[in-house]
Amino acid sequence: MRHGEDSVVVEALLAEFRELLGSEAVLTDVEEFCDPYDPTDLAHRPAAVVQPASVGEVQAIVRAAARYGVPIWVSSQGRNNGYGGSAPVLAGSVVVNLRRMNRILEVNERLGYVVVEPGVRFFDLVDHAEATGGAWWPSTPSLGWGSVVGNTVDHGFGSTEFGDHAAAVAGLEVVLPDGSLLRTGMWASSTSTSYGTHPRGFGPNITPMFMQSNLGIVTKLARWVSPRPESYAAVTAHADDPDALAPLIDATELLVQEHTVRNIPNLTTSLGAAAMRAPRSHWTRAGVPMPDEDYRALCAALGTGWYNLRLALYGPSAVVDAQLDRVRTVLSSAVPGVRISVNRIRGEDVSDETVRTHADRVQAGRPSMMMLETAKWWSDDGGHLELAPIAPATGADAVRIADLLRPRLEAEGFDFWPSLYISGRSLMFLAVMNFDRHDPSRVQAAYRVAEGAIPALAEAGYSLYRGNIRHMDLIQSTYDFGDHAYRRFVEGIKDLLDPVGILAPGKQGIWPTRYRPEHRD
Ligand code: ADP
Repeated sequence: MRHGEDSVVVEALLAEFRELLGSEAVLTDVEEFCDPYDPTDLAHRPAAVVQPASVGEVQAIVRAAARYGVPIWVSSQGRNNGYGGSAPVLAGSVVVNLRRMNRILEVNERLGYVVVEPGVRFFDLVDHAEATGGAWWPSTPSLGWGSVVGNTVDHGFGSTEFGDHAAAVAGLEVVLPDGSLLRTGMWASSTSTSYGTHPRGFGPNITPMFMQSNLGIVTKLARWVSPRPESYAAVTAHADDPDALAPLIDATELLVQEHTVRNIPNLTTSLGAAAMRAPRSHWTRAGVPMPDEDYRALCAALGTGWYNLRLALYGPSAVVDAQLDRVRTVLSSAVPGVRISVNRIRGEDVSDETVRTHADRVQAGRPSMMMLETAKWWSDDGGHLELAPIAPATGADAVRIADLLRPRLEAEGFDFWPSLYISGRSLMFLAVMNFDRHDPSRVQAAYRVAEGAIPALAEAGYSLYRGNIRHMDLIQSTYDFGDHAYRRFVEGIKDLLDPVGILAPGKQGIWPTRYRPEHRD
């Protein structure tokens, strides 16, 4: 049996799932679990979806899939849209979707951590915080409909001090491919009281091995959250000079390294803000690239700059006063003429009514659905694909990546749409391609850009940190030191833990023995 395509075997497995979990837990209408931005692609279409309601059911599913040799793919909410949604690398896989496991199991306000099941959405976490007095803020990506677990295990970013979500995990509970249950970090001790507070246990730290991973299914996650600050200051800096990219990045990195700024700042052009208001046709009649005069008119209409930086400060009022002074000094001397605006508010007054812009909300750990509007740039029925290389956080590196990507994007009819996240000593350079998801020629154009840019970026020193299901082999191939020693190491572990090769074959370019010959040069 290969690829789960043997319908007789899959049917037998689904019959067993119905028996185990009840027929309402097994879906054969898979539309919602295909790639939302390439809906006609059969190469990544799942055979069925199973929705367990408990850890015991996840264990039973894994054991049955191994007996039948049918590949499974995991999604929590399955909203990882630019990367494939719930769609598997291998067509014919059965999606194990964890939406029904949606309990917030623990909140420790005093020490600042939560323990959640995989179906808990960022919206749920914020609602729960509000309903219980709002003394803590989670970190969240822009959109609130995805799950805390799905985003975190895919190395997602948010915009608060715990915005590097994978780094804010204390421990995991994981179902292994043989159906057994493991807890990591301090949680490996069944009597531990610090599973939510300390990020490692005794011995090699294996928590990160279950993120971007096909070695296990995460069924519980403990992660840190922030105390609601006395004072919150959302800072925006607009620079009108097209050459301001490098000095803005260098100044921001200085502020981050010296810990004046502790969140994850974000730098963009004004296209995202424009797209939240109206489609491209509202702003220009020209093709790609948009003429500079149209772009400047767009910025003027929005009151934004050629580049826009957002960052946030949190803490006791006197501390935020001092940080704000320092931010103004550093940014103004790096970028003469930079326009700085500040939305300063007491933490306890922050709500959807008092904090209205996307930037000011997300930095206060409040997700929304506003960013979804940006996909409508070309058509009401838009999709998007991102390239996400990692670079050292220097202005020179940011400019080098911009110079490399811009001509490639524009040659295929995509506006150059950068969004840079500065985290610690690195930056993540997100280049967004928007398209009409029902126009296959535009979807293919985005894939072409990715297939050309991924090796070119790696050659220049910038491998990607995350990727679409179609590009996982290509991205993994750029992690090539020692004749792909890293991939060999992980695949060795894969074969030990998952000898039948059922759990998410091909995820992140990691294949079990069974499929390796046909997926390797
Ligand atoms: P979200 O819930 O944020 O929408 P997805 O469910 O789309 O996220 O999953 C994002 C990525 O993380 C996918 O590659 C998926 O396979 C993986 N993933 C999601 N949930 C789990 C889990 N519980 N255990 C292991 N991997 C997971």
